[in-house]
Amino acid sequence: MNLIKTPEEVNIMAEGGKILAAVLKEVEKMAVAGMTTLQLDRAAEALILRYGAKPAFKGYQGFPYSLCTSVNEVIVHGFPSNYVLKNGDIVGLDLGVLWKGYNTDMAVTVAIGEIPFETKRLMDVTKKALKLGIKKARAGVTTGDIGNTIQRYVEDQGFGIIRDLQGHGIGKGVHEEPGVPNYGQRHKGTKLEEGMVICIEPMLTMGGITIKKAKDGYGFTTRDGSLSAHFEHTIAIFKDGARILTQ
Ligand code: MG
Repeated sequence: MNLIKTPEEVNIMAEGGKILAAVLKEVEKMAVAGMTTLQLDRAAEALILRYGAKPAFKGYQGFPYSLCTSVNEVIVHGFPSNYVLKNGDIVGLDLGVLWKGYNTDMAVTVAIGEIPFETKRLMDVTKKALKLGIKKARAGVTTGDIGNTIQRYVEDQGFGIIRDLQGHGIGKGVHEEPGVPNYGQRHKGTKLEEGMVICIEPMLTMGGITIKKAKDGYGFTTRDGSLSAHFEHTIAIFKDGARILTQ
């Protein structure tokens, strides 16, 4: 598989990413106490279709929805359901858009009402870990350099970084090579080149980093039931840095 995108392909992905970011922002605003995660999914899908784009996750590996909704101890890939969001929950919203044949992928974690200080810190550290990973990314660095940067920061902040799930390349496929782990050793892994498009997506936990399948058979939760947060961007690699496509 050719990992390198042409400038034209990157521009198409930036168009799709812009749609995705706009839709996710709207859905994020709707994530309040009293809403069900299924309502958020319906809204996300309707908004994507209104832009003339398609939901990238629907039907992907059998996933029947457009939006992944991962509440509290669910790390990623949670099924939307009739679960009613309540004050104190955190919910990961992970969405993909297919635009002119190319996918983009983005996730945020949202607090519902008031959350404890330490939960807020978990979310903030996850967001910052993503930011640091993006800052590190440019042609010539390796996936290990990015993972190492994220891991060292997260562990220094006292949180766990999930190892069994990782970021990925993206393009005509939702998941392409290379894998982009959120831990690792400097100079190891795949060397990034100009024109690669990847998703960086740190997944943090308040407790242990062991994962298990969620009851819906699709999502992943922390084994110890501790809270988990997730942020993700799709980025294009250039010689002097990375361009965030999902904004
Ligand atoms: Mg992803």
